[in-house]
Amino acid sequence: MSASISSIDLNNLSPIQVFIRIKPNNSNDENDTISFKYSKNNRTLTLPNSPSMSFDNIFPPESTQNDLFESISSLLHFPLYGYNSTIFAYGQTNSGKTYTMLGPNGKLSLSLDLMGIIPRTSRYLFAAIHKLTSSSSSSSIQYQVRVSYFEVYNARVYDLLNKKSHSLNIREDNQGNINVADAVEIPVDNSLELENILMQGNEKRRTAFTSMNSSSSRSHALLILWIERRERLTSSSLSREYKSYLGRLNLIDLAGSEDISRSKVEGDRFREAVNINTELLQLRRVLDALSSSSSYIPYRDSTLTRLLQSSLSTKQSITILISHISSLNIDLYESVNTLKYSQIAKCIQRTSIPTPKLSKYIDTSDVMFGDYTDPIEYFYRRTVYIHTRSYGKIFARLAGHRYDEQQKCILLIHGSGPTNSSMFWNDLVRKLLLATSSSSSPSPYYFVTIDCPGYGRSDGDKQIIRSYPDVFIEEIIDCISPITHKVYCLIGSSQGAAAVFNALVEKPTMSSFLAVQNPVSHDPQRFVSIKQPALLMYDIDDDGHPVSVGRLVRKYIRNNHYYEYSSSQQSEWLEHNAHLKLLQLFNEYDVNNQLRTSSEISLPSLPACLSVAGGIISYLSSYNREPLYENSKEELKSILSTYEKQSVENNDLFIERIEPESIEDDESKAERLAIELTQTQCDLCNQHINSNDISKSLRLSDCRHLLCYSCCCETIKINSYECPVVDCATKLNISSSQLSLYSLPFSSDTEKHIIIQFGNSSKSSSSSSGQRYEYIAYIKCKTKNMIDNVSFDINPEYPKSAIRVCQPPYELVRIMNLEFTCHFIIQWNKTLNWPKLRIMYHVQNKQDNFIRNLLVRIPNQGNTMTKSHKTHEVVYNWTDRDRTKPNINYILLSYD
Ligand code: ADP
Ligand code: MG
Repeated sequence: MSASISSIDLNNLSPIQVFIRIKPNNSNDENDTISFKYSKNNRTLTLPNSPSMSFDNIFPPESTQNDLFESISSLLHFPLYGYNSTIFAYGQTNSGKTYTMLGPNGKLSLSLDLMGIIPRTSRYLFAAIHKLTSSSSSSSIQYQVRVSYFEVYNARVYDLLNKKSHSLNIREDNQGNINVADAVEIPVDNSLELENILMQGNEKRRTAFTSMNSSSSRSHALLILWIERRERLTSSSLSREYKSYLGRLNLIDLAGSEDISRSKVEGDRFREAVNINTELLQLRRVLDALSSSSSYIPYRDSTLTRLLQSSLSTKQSITILISHISSLNIDLYESVNTLKYSQIAKCIQRTSIPTPKLSKYIDTSDVMFGDYTDPIEYFYRRTVYIHTRSYGKIFARLAGHRYDEQQKCILLIHGSGPTNSSMFWNDLVRKLLLATSSSSSPSPYYFVTIDCPGYGRSDGDKQIIRSYPDVFIEEIIDCISPITHKVYCLIGSSQGAAAVFNALVEKPTMSSFLAVQNPVSHDPQRFVSIKQPALLMYDIDDDGHPVSVGRLVRKYIRNNHYYEYSSSQQSEWLEHNAHLKLLQLFNEYDVNNQLRTSSEISLPSLPACLSVAGGIISYLSSYNREPLYENSKEELKSILSTYEKQSVENNDLFIERIEPESIEDDESKAERLAIELTQTQCDLCNQHINSNDISKSLRLSDCRHLLCYSCCCETIKINSYECPVVDCATKLNISSSQLSLYSLPFSSDTEKHIIIQFGNSSKSSSSSSGQRYEYIAYIKCKTKNMIDNVSFDINPEYPKSAIRVCQPPYELVRIMNLEFTCHFIIQWNKTLNWPKLRIMYHVQNKQDNFIRNLLVRIPNQGNTMTKSHKTHEVVYNWTDRDRTKPNINYILLSYD
C-alpha cells in the first residue's frame, strides 16, 4: 500500500485531477491517426497546429491498465478514512471508458493484465482493509463495506441491484447529502462478493447496438462503495461507543457523447442519444460554472449532475476525471471537445479542504447501551448473565481480569436479608482488587458475585439456595470453570455462609478455600468433613447470627483462621480486615499464591455460557430487591460526572449522562413518588387523564414521564430507547412482558391490539462449500389462539414456495450463504375474520437478538367484515434497518 493518507496534502490537491487516456488505434491504418506529442513527464499534450495543454497525467495509447491504476491508487485511501472520492470516465462513445473502468467489452476481465479500475479497486480496497484491521495495534478498528449500483438512463435513476425496475427519486438530506431514495445497499466482505454483485448489476445495465460501438453503454453507471470505518473509543471489547467515519467511493462510467448524424440512431436509440447528450451538456455547464467560481452551480438541472454533485463540488470532492480520446483523425472534433472540457475541469480551484464524514455510533441493540466500561481498567467490573441448565439466567457481577481457568476465581454468595444480593460484596471485592493489583499488573484473582435465584436480578425461587446449595453452586461453577469444575475460594455470609458449608460437605472438590462471616447452621457437626482452609469471621454482638454457633463451627472445621470482633466497639473491623485476613489465609496454605507478571496475561475472556449484561452502571447500581450501598452510590456518581466532564471537553455530545434512578436516596424518592401520584396530565399531549384511565397510563421508567393511554398507543415509542416527550435517547427498555401488559389489556372501544414479534437469529455453520449461516426467522404472538398459521415465503414471486407452519413456534430454518428476504404471511384465527398480514422482512446476518415488535391495531368493525374481504391482505414492509430507531411500530389492519 503506497501513500498513507497523512502524507497527502489536501490543501494542494486540486478538487478534480484530470487524466487523459488515448485509445490505441486498432485499424492499423497509419494515415488515420493523429500525431500527438507528449512531454516527457506525461503532463502536456500537443495536437498538430495547436498550443499544448497541460493535465495531471497523460496515458498514451501503449499504456496499460496497470499504469493507469497505479496512478490512481493513492486516491483510494481517502474513503478508508471517511472522505468522499470519485473516479469517473468521460469521453465520446467508443473512446474506451468502459474498458478503463471494467475491462475489455465491459466484462470483469479474468485476465489480470486487462482488468479495469473497478475490479482492481475492489481487490486493492479489501487488501488495504485487511491490513488496517489485522495489525495487532488495530484490534479496535472495524470496516464495513456496502455497495450500491445505479444507472442513469433517459434522465431517470434505476437501481441495478434491485430486481424491480421502476426508477428511483433523488433526495437531499438535511446535511445537504444527495442520496437515492430506497436504494439497495448490499454489505460485502470481500472482493469476490463485490465482483459477483457487480456482474449481476451489469447484466441489468442496458446496452444496445449502435453503429458506433456494438456494446455501447446507453446509460451512465454509478457504483458507490460506502466504506464505514469504526473506531472503538476504548480498547475494551465491551465498549459500545464507536466513532464512525463514512467514506464513499464513486466509480462512474459515463455514457459517451455522440454525434447523432454519424451514429445513425433512430427511434428509442435516438431519444437515448439526445438524452445522453443533453446530460453531458449539463455536466459541461456545471464544470464551466465551477471553473469560473460562479456563485450558482446548476447541479439541479439534470439527473446526472445532481447525482454527481458531491463528486464535483469544490468543497467535498477528491476526484479524478479520466478523459478518453481516440487517436483517429475521424474523431478529431470530439477529441478536441473532450480535451476542451477536460481543461475546464482542470482549472477548477478548491474552495475548502474536504473533511472526513464522521458520525458517532451507538449500538443500541447492545446491552452496554447507556452503560460504560470500568474507568478503573484493572478492576474491569461488569455484569453478566450466567446461563445455567436448571436455574435459568443468573445475574452476576464480575470484577478483575480473567485470563484462563487456572486463574483464581473467587465466588461470593450473599445472605438472605430481604433485599440482600451481590451488591453486598462490592466493598470486599474492591478492597481485594486494590490490595492485589495495580495498573501495570492485574490482580491474580477475579471475582464472580452472583444474585441467587429470587434475589437481585435473578429470577426464580428464593428457596433454591437454601434447599440445593450444592447443586446450584456446582452448576454455576460448571459454567464459569467448564474445564476444572472448581473455584479457588467460596465466600458466603449468613444464608450464603450456610450454603457454602453445605455445598462443600456434599461436593468437597469444588473449591480450594472458603471464607464466611455471620454463620448460621443447624447442624455444625456435619462440617467435620470440610478439609479446606477456612476463614471464619464472627461478630459477637450480632444476635441474629449467634457467635456460639460460630464457635461450634470452628471446632469442626479443622484448618481455620478464626476471628471474633465486636461491631459495637470496632465498627469497621470487617471493612479494614476481611480482605487482609483472606490474603493471609491464601498465602499460608497456597505456596503458589504469587502474583503473575502482567506480560503473561492475555486479553480477558468470558466462558461461552455467559452473556454480557452491562458495564459499570449496571455493576454499581442496585435493583429493586437490593440496597444501594453508600460506597457504590458515591463511586457511581463520581464515575458519571467524570464521563460527563470528558464528553463535554471532547465536545462529545454523544455520551449522554444517564442517571440511574437508584442514585436517589430514599427520601427524595418518596418525595418524587408523592408528586408523581398526584399527576393527572399526560406529559406528551398535556390532556387531563381522568381517574378511570389513570391505570391505563404509563410512567416511563427512566425519564419518569407519564403518558396517557392513547399516547402510549399512538407514539408507540415505548420499549424503544427514545422518550416521546423529550425525544432523546434514554434508557427506557421496558421488558416485552411489561409492554404487553401496557398495550394489550387496554384495547379501546374502537380497536383491538395485538403484539407481534418477529425477527431472526443467525449463526455461522461451517461447510465444505464456504461460509454459510443457519438463519431462524420467526413470528411470535403475545396473545394465544390468535394465529391459525404462518406461511414463510422466501420466493414471493413463485406462488407455491411457501412453507406453512400451523403450530407455534412459527419458525423457518434455512442454511444460506447470503441474507435473504422472507415474507411472513399471518393467517389469523378464522373466526376473527381479519385480513391476512404480510410482513416483508429482510432476514439479516446479525449476531444478536434484536426483536422487532409490531403492534397490530384492528378496528372493531372487523368482526362484521363481509366474506368478499376474506382474501384481503395487509402488507407491512419492514425496511428499517436502523437500530437507533424505535423497535416497535404499529400497523392498522384496515378493510378497504
Ligand atoms: P466506451 O465505453 O467509451 O464507449 P469501450 O470501452 O466500450 O468504449 O471501448 C470500445 C472498444 O475499444 C472496445 O472494444 C474496447 O475493448 C476497445 N478499447 C478501448 N480502450 C482500449 C485500450 N486502451 N486498449 C485496447 N482496446 C481498447
Ligand atoms: Mg461504455
